[in-house]
Amino acid sequence: MNQKSFPVGSKHHGFVVTRIEELPKLQNRLVQLTHEATGAKMIHLESADPNNLFAVAFPTNPQDSTGVAHILEHTALCGGKSYPVRDPFFSMVKRSLKTFMNAFTASDWTMYPFSTQNQKDFYNLLGVYLDAAFFPLLGELNFLQEGHRLEFEEPQNPDSPLVYKGVVYNEMLGAMSQPSQIMHRNLTRALFPTLTYHYNSGGDPDEIVKLSHQQLLDFHKQHYHPSNAYFFTYGNLPLEEHLAQIEAQVLAQFQKIEVHTRLPKEKRFSAPQSFEFTYPLEAGEDDGKKCQLALCWLTAGVTDSDEVLALNLMSRVLLGHSGAPLRKALLESKLGKALSDGTGFENEISETFFSAGLQGVGETDLPQVEALVRSTLNNIVLEGIKPLAIESALHQMEMETREITGGHYPYPLNLLFRFFGAWVHGGDPVLALDFDGAMERLHQKLQQPGYLESKIKTQLLDNPHQVRVTLKPEAGLEKEQQEKRQATLARIKAQLTQEETAKILEQTKALSDLQEAKEDLSVLPTLGISDIPLEVPFEVPVRLELEGRDVMLFEGATNGITYLQCGFALAGLSDLERSYLPLLGTLLTQTGKGDLGYEEMANRISLSTGGFSAGPSLRLALDQSRFEEFFTIGSKCLHKNLPRLFELLKKILLESRFQETERIHTLVGQRANSLSNSVIQAGHQYASTQASRGFSGTTRIEELYDGLSQVLLMKELAKAEPAPLLGRLTPFLALLEKLFVSERLSVFGLTEPGQRTALEEQILGFYGSLPAQKGRSGQPEPPALTPQYVREAWLTTTPVSYVAKAFKTPAYLSSEAPKLLVLSYLLKSEFLHAEIREKGGAYGGMAGYNAHEGILTLLSYRDPQLARTLEVYEQALGWLKKGDFGKPQVDEAILQCIGSMDTPQSPFGKALSEYGNLKKGKTVAHRLAFRKAVLETTKADLIEVGQRCLTGAASVAVVSSGDLLDKDQKALAGAPLERRAL
Ligand SMILES: [Zn+2]
Repeated sequence: MNQKSFPVGSKHHGFVVTRIEELPKLQNRLVQLTHEATGAKMIHLESADPNNLFAVAFPTNPQDSTGVAHILEHTALCGGKSYPVRDPFFSMVKRSLKTFMNAFTASDWTMYPFSTQNQKDFYNLLGVYLDAAFFPLLGELNFLQEGHRLEFEEPQNPDSPLVYKGVVYNEMLGAMSQPSQIMHRNLTRALFPTLTYHYNSGGDPDEIVKLSHQQLLDFHKQHYHPSNAYFFTYGNLPLEEHLAQIEAQVLAQFQKIEVHTRLPKEKRFSAPQSFEFTYPLEAGEDDGKKCQLALCWLTAGVTDSDEVLALNLMSRVLLGHSGAPLRKALLESKLGKALSDGTGFENEISETFFSAGLQGVGETDLPQVEALVRSTLNNIVLEGIKPLAIESALHQMEMETREITGGHYPYPLNLLFRFFGAWVHGGDPVLALDFDGAMERLHQKLQQPGYLESKIKTQLLDNPHQVRVTLKPEAGLEKEQQEKRQATLARIKAQLTQEETAKILEQTKALSDLQEAKEDLSVLPTLGISDIPLEVPFEVPVRLELEGRDVMLFEGATNGITYLQCGFALAGLSDLERSYLPLLGTLLTQTGKGDLGYEEMANRISLSTGGFSAGPSLRLALDQSRFEEFFTIGSKCLHKNLPRLFELLKKILLESRFQETERIHTLVGQRANSLSNSVIQAGHQYASTQASRGFSGTTRIEELYDGLSQVLLMKELAKAEPAPLLGRLTPFLALLEKLFVSERLSVFGLTEPGQRTALEEQILGFYGSLPAQKGRSGQPEPPALTPQYVREAWLTTTPVSYVAKAFKTPAYLSSEAPKLLVLSYLLKSEFLHAEIREKGGAYGGMAGYNAHEGILTLLSYRDPQLARTLEVYEQALGWLKKGDFGKPQVDEAILQCIGSMDTPQSPFGKALSEYGNLKKGKTVAHRLAFRKAVLETTKADLIEVGQRCLTGAASVAVVSSGDLLDKDQKALAGAPLERRAL
């Protein structure tokens, strides 16, 4: 496409172009359009990137907490007019080379995005997405499956007790048991008495059960209409074709309707208000410091982009790094263990708000937290903000706009999230995406003395629309809620008429028949094996060594940013020493250096870099003959700041003193707190790590770094007082002293072509500045270990379980490995998904194969079952052996393997993984051979490899609660799980 063919005012397939903007910083061009007949809105970002993304989104503003928008998001994906199959979404996951597929319910919109690098796949998925959004069947059974339903505990026995089931019901039961979620929901509940944010858009389990099928249908009609639709496309595919498809498949069939989804302004308070909420916590887990308090201010409307930018800057100045004044005051006060959930500036909903407070607070300290926030803000206004603090916040904003990120979401989706809030509420999307113009105006305003200070005064201190939100633990709350639900169910059961009982039985049967029914998926479009590209994408380093040093440099289009990672070889550590390494990484980068306190270091780091991170890492050779251990420190910066990055790096490595007793105590508390909170959020990952930790030397060490023993260690350390804590840490801190020597160093770097010489000079200078070798040197170790198997349940406060079963299998270089990878996808999509999610009611049932280690894991996520899920795992092999699947299912599993292998990465992610490959000895030839073997895998191979590799011993680890384990005690009697407390 060139700009000429899309001038402003031109018409294409019913759309009129309303705006074109060049976005040089993002190397994109933005085309904004409106569909004349329906009013549908669209933005296209034209880019050279082959990872094309499509999204359609609707403003959805529920007026209750029944989760109607969320349940609709799920149910819309259960079949549409053109693709009337049970689960087109999950079926497409299998028939596609998608790089991302998902659906989201936010507090005021619902979005369906996907991305792929394959053109045919893009239009296949587009057809299915448009059908799901605009023409879903929304059948009653789908509603019962995804939303909520009543069943008898023994499905066909009306004498057994009633239970609630439903995918969203269980998902929200899990989500709403987490204090962080409860806090987030309640901040907006308190701040917005009249708008949709007052309600829980995901759904409150006790409200979800009140939603009717008809209400769901009505909600769809009102909201999923082109007149209420926002389309977004991104990438190198031509816009013309996107418009043609969207018009033909959807828009041509609709007339414009009135939509009422633009939100009014919240009615402003005349005086501050306070609210108190509770969350469930087992008595044994209450250390007396489990409260949370946040102050929260309603600020500018999201469409007021200049004010939003100023508030964003204000928030970064106050909280942006550990030296920022509000963050520092809160954490140094020791009144709490970490900042409260939601601390910061929220600018994605119709009216922005700022929030600050602490969590991990003792009940009697709560008033002091409030007083501290207020007095700190007051002092900042009185004393004024340092110009350097503003400069450093502006620098962080510049880095974030530029960086092409990777990670959880595809980069174009991150771009969409950046401007979607402004766009959907009637603001200017461009200003939120590339705000150079607004930045200019902000710079002007910053010339006025006290400009930012005045924002703190008017938007926060003197603003009457503010709330104090307190969250307190309540022992026995979970049990009480459970008993209340059981009592409700018993009452319902007592009042059931014969017809109603018959109807429940009938529905249960109908739903299970639907779930079991063989269906014809051939209506769905698919990619074939022949559509898969045979080559593997790879990056070649531009320099493999530098004057005999172990340096590997890559060049790429990084949009003005240089990346650096330095690894120092470790050797001869005990497991106890190893378990302290992650904490040492935190302490190294976040404490004072030389004569600079930690605040001043944080200021300098934030002024010139994107931050430093440090910690241990492992590198297992591809043939598993040996592994190496490193302590790695990494950073990134704008090219112009490279010399300053190296100055800071040297300071961090060579001038640490670790004498800030209080600071170290605070950091330990924060890390312990965030790890404790992560147990439920990532329960499946922990379960998986625990299950496989006895399999090899490297899995044992990984567990020390990232597993539950790390959580327990941090919880234990957090109990110590500052001085004894430092005493305990001192021998481990001493490990770092001998570590940072030039002989142990290897360097990875990524920059843009014109910057390489400058980077090389800095690296050589850095080698020269490090001391020469003393102490132990790094030697690779053989990882050999006879696998040890466990059966364990790790118990905490949770209403759902996370169940993992792991098998030690052959690894990457064996002929079984490609087959095991295909097998993991086959098991997931053809067996576990149906058994664990659809029938079992869990949020997810998965299988994963770690080819590098040689581990195959079966997993469940937010699972209401425990013993049953273990039973399903037992049945998996029988299902495989029966061979009740054909070539289409095998091909689908192969497609998914290739899709996951070809997932696009950020420039940094790409170069770093290539670095890892080269160091491990994983060549392009290895990867091509692996790919070929994946493509050639047959049904017979899968059955055979399953028989050979998944019949022996296996480990089981579960993250669950004592109550859930008790409930299944009988079922587990034959093979009990060892109880471990968390
Ligand atoms: Zn959901």
